[in-house]
Amino acid sequence: MLNKTNPLLTRKIKGIRQDYLTHISDKSHAKIWSSVSEKENLLIITVLIPSRGCSWALSESGGCSVCGYVNDSSRENKIPIKLIKEELTRVIIDVEYTKPLELQIFNSGSFFDKDDVPEELRDLLIDLITQSGKVIKLSVECRPEYILKEKKVIEKLLKQLSNVSLEIGLGLESSNNAILQDCWNKGTTLENFKSSLEYLHSIGITVKSYVFIKPPFLNEQEALRDAIKTIIDAQHLGSDVISINPCNVQNGTLIYELFRKNEYQSPWLWTVLQVIKMSNELFPNSTIICDPTAGGKERGAHNCGKCDKLVLKLIEKAVQKEKLPENFSKICSCYSNWKILMNTPWETFRIHNLSKLRRLNPLRE
Ligand code: SF4
Ligand SMILES: [Zn+2]
Repeated sequence: MLNKTNPLLTRKIKGIRQDYLTHISDKSHAKIWSSVSEKENLLIITVLIPSRGCSWALSESGGCSVCGYVNDSSRENKIPIKLIKEELTRVIIDVEYTKPLELQIFNSGSFFDKDDVPEELRDLLIDLITQSGKVIKLSVECRPEYILKEKKVIEKLLKQLSNVSLEIGLGLESSNNAILQDCWNKGTTLENFKSSLEYLHSIGITVKSYVFIKPPFLNEQEALRDAIKTIIDAQHLGSDVISINPCNVQNGTLIYELFRKNEYQSPWLWTVLQVIKMSNELFPNSTIICDPTAGGKERGAHNCGKCDKLVLKLIEKAVQKEKLPENFSKICSCYSNWKILMNTPWETFRIHNLSKLRRLNPLRE
């Protein structure tokens, strides 16, 4: 099932991962936050549970080059099931809400991976959802291999939650298998993603496909092209929702090491805006999500510093499919710098350190 991996890349990632994980503590509390979806009239409660951690990240492969989610897991500690139960009971049983709930349970790995989320924990979560009677939609995330391996578990869960619609987030990231292998170390392929999506659709589960902007070793232009091509492929395969995720540099990852040495910069907000704009032009009726983590900060997608807030607002508008200004170059002079960088090969980027175009902005008049 798994794609081939690049031994040089896996060795590097594994070393960085191991080193970082020995220096941080295991986690034992769930993180909980909420938001409102006006469109669906739902209160969304997101719960990040401290499960054992993504098996792919903890394996000999070292996991994905850009992902530090495993830093939020309980790992060697026993998963604090009792504590998770108390924390979730307070949120979904004890409180009355005026809107129906969407519960997003994220575990920094795969919900259907028994090593990551043991049966006891999954059963507890399902019990709480049925007991509360308030949850009308459940969203979880999973790697494709566990979808196909755990069909019986998924079908059982569907029966148990018969009144709850289920959405599963699949990390496609890129539809280019070479990028998945040599930039991402994802350990999955487009074909794996496709089989999982088709199976989930066949049993009535909707799929949210994650598309990433700018893994390591791609320049700004390549990253934009990769994201657009991936969106096109994800749409053609029938994704119900596309979640567009510009890179934010997380600790304990290969991308952090590159960032530290000035060999990687997160994408420009202009790139993110352009990806959404093109996606809207190609698929006007699609549902997309994009809320850049650490947007405007050095580790997240950012521009020159002067226009970041404004362009983040434009991204919000673009996600809502609202009309955008005609001419971006009037918004900020850094737009023309972005255009130059868009055409700069990665090697030149390394040698001349053109990443500084943003903050130092030498081309600004
Ligand atoms: S992106 Fe997903 S599969 Fe990759 S290391 Fe992170 S949690 Fe694991
Ligand atoms: Zn600017």
